[in-house]
Amino acid sequence: MIRTYEDSDVRYTYRDALVESLRSTGELKVGQLHLLMSKSLGFCWGVDRALAMVKDACREYPNRPKWLLSSLIHNPTVNEDMLKLGIGFLHGPYAVQGAYEDLSEKDVVIVPAFSARVEDMEILRARNVTLVDTTCPWVIKPHKRAQRYIKEGFTTVIHGMVGHDETLSTCSLVENSGGQYLVVHDKMETQSLAAFLRGDLSGKMLMKWLHRDAALPGFDPDVHLKKVGIINQTTMLATESREIGDIIRLALLQRDGEEGLQDSFRDFDTICRATQDNQDAATEAVKENPDFFLVVGGYDSSNTKNLARVGDDRNIPSYHIEGVECLQGVITHRDRVTGEILQTADWLPSARPLKIAFSAGASTPDTILGAVVRHIAELVGESLPVFEEPTPKA
Ligand code: SF4
Repeated sequence: MIRTYEDSDVRYTYRDALVESLRSTGELKVGQLHLLMSKSLGFCWGVDRALAMVKDACREYPNRPKWLLSSLIHNPTVNEDMLKLGIGFLHGPYAVQGAYEDLSEKDVVIVPAFSARVEDMEILRARNVTLVDTTCPWVIKPHKRAQRYIKEGFTTVIHGMVGHDETLSTCSLVENSGGQYLVVHDKMETQSLAAFLRGDLSGKMLMKWLHRDAALPGFDPDVHLKKVGIINQTTMLATESREIGDIIRLALLQRDGEEGLQDSFRDFDTICRATQDNQDAATEAVKENPDFFLVVGGYDSSNTKNLARVGDDRNIPSYHIEGVECLQGVITHRDRVTGEILQTADWLPSARPLKIAFSAGASTPDTILGAVVRHIAELVGESLPVFEEPTPKA
């Protein structure tokens, strides 16, 4: 039987009827308030699936110690809910000290949707724990492509974030498969890579410009950047990923010529469908020129960070917040460029009518977004319609 995670009871825990209605209509006008809702936002299929698998594990192994290798997804509310279910954490901010070292066959370990480092998987198998692997199938795509590059003698260039769980697992896979990788975070870093490829920058200078963990120790640009294959962390900004691919392609074209390029360059889009859909829908919403754009999701959620950037080209004031607690007189939000958590006063324009666009990351429960929308309506002095909350199908 094919399982439809959208109908799982876990998903209903996080559903919100107001958000469901706004998502389907795309907008709502009440008095002086015009709400523009991205038609694709919030939980993706991979998150639904991971949550359903956790719930199944709780049913199947009610009396065994259960652990998450690290955050199931990048949302603090959901991770706190995991603690409430009695699931401990082995790595990360909620980790129980010593638990990882003490694992044995009595334990059940849940691998998060971002996958895991090869080193961790080897330890878990050696300890004979029961594994519940929630790795999203979309995350497998860049893994497979990287392994193909290695076989063909290419170095994998990853458009991603050094230290992000998904990129850590990809880098570990490349290393353990005998390959080399280089992580570039943005266009600026890619321009340095392009300058090296064109012969305008030394390998030593290139490595100085990049993050110190962007490559394996001993990575030598002169040796390892002869053949380059690109993949993306699944949750990056798709438009930026395409530009990065173009920058590298052009530099290699200048270095190797049209014919040489066939042997020295590969590009494969591994942005996941949910990320692409949420970014496209947010782009449509900001085209309506809202007074501001509000994106709700965990500060460590890569896809949420990138969603918050879709309004930048149109100079729409944009805020990335974690939830309603960020709207207390000042707005507490993550700066899209520096990553700093800022507090900004006078964020709510006094002019009326007020048009606001909303989106939410693939790891953001609808309930959190719904609370934000209701609070803003309250601040503006407008009453939103009340919708009947959905219930799980029998
Ligand atoms: S954002 Fe994409 S890759 Fe990540 S869990 Fe969701 S579907 Fe999978």
